[in-house]
Amino acid sequence: MNPINRIGTFYSDKFLEHDMPGHPEHAGRLTAITTLLHRRAADYVQPMSFEAATHAQLCRVHRLNYVRDLERSCAFGGGLLDGGDTYTTEASFDAAALAAGACIEATRVVMRGEFKRTFVLPRPPGHHAYADHAEGFCLFNNVAFAARCALDEFGLERVMILDWDVHHGNGTESIFYDNPQVLYVSLHQYGGIYPGTGTSNAAGWERGAGANMNIPLPEGVGDKGYLRAFNELIVPKARQFKPQLILISAGYDAHWRDPLANMRVSLAGFAQMTQQMVTLSDEFCDGKLVGVLEGGYDLEVLSHGVLATLQVMAGDSPNMIEDVIGMPKHELAVERLDSLFEQIKKTQKLA
Ligand SMILES: [Zn+2]
Repeated sequence: MNPINRIGTFYSDKFLEHDMPGHPEHAGRLTAITTLLHRRAADYVQPMSFEAATHAQLCRVHRLNYVRDLERSCAFGGGLLDGGDTYTTEASFDAAALAAGACIEATRVVMRGEFKRTFVLPRPPGHHAYADHAEGFCLFNNVAFAARCALDEFGLERVMILDWDVHHGNGTESIFYDNPQVLYVSLHQYGGIYPGTGTSNAAGWERGAGANMNIPLPEGVGDKGYLRAFNELIVPKARQFKPQLILISAGYDAHWRDPLANMRVSLAGFAQMTQQMVTLSDEFCDGKLVGVLEGGYDLEVLSHGVLATLQVMAGDSPNMIEDVIGMPKHELAVERLDSLFEQIKKTQKLA
């Protein structure tokens, strides 16, 4: 295989030490992924080494008092945050700092040209974490460290984050909301689901105006609706912004079988979304693409979703298991998206 197609993959057993059995965001999620990748993707996956982010690196994204409070509370055994949804244990701070370090290193090796594409398998996930507090199973905002690394260490001026996790990445949006150098684009279920943010008129603030695009989808949208969003909104927005690096917040909870959401995306849909991002990165960024795992709570779907993403990133044709999992029965008619998409095009100044 052409070495350019190997994917630098960032994983550590320490990510398993942050765990609460019975919680949807438990360590078994990662074990399911790594077990399948070991069996099916050994040709693509290049395991990478990395170190925990230092306090100075953590403070590129988070407030120092939040970092210190989290470290102290974990040292005392951890507990429940965010009204009980987000847990910490005595291992959580170290796992989260290591996850941040993984995202930094995954960006560095891409920027240095050592790998064209990398994928990070961090826990806890990140996109709900704000600069000053934990939320939605997330402690530190993993993908934000990747973006900050590209801006601060390599002098990039335009980084795009595409977030296809089914939940709105409220933390990521908040961190970069006034930053014109980071285009945050989120596809998410809107209505009847956490966190309730991510309306289509939230398009950035002050200097960051125009560098935030929310695509709040009604429940039941399947592959066709997502691909329509790529063709009509995401690709034109990327062409307008011209990213120098693309990051994916890759959650797999928009799959029709996920227990926490009600979308109807299939594994083939995730493969097609990955292909769209690969094509965009080839067009603008010399192929530079970093994937960062977010949510996904059906273990079989999650592991095969990550496998499909890595296969497409590696340039291979994805190996679907739809015949095992089955396809969604009904999708929302894509015509139902007409008025929403028209409104987003207007807000985003897309012709
Ligand atoms: Zn999610």
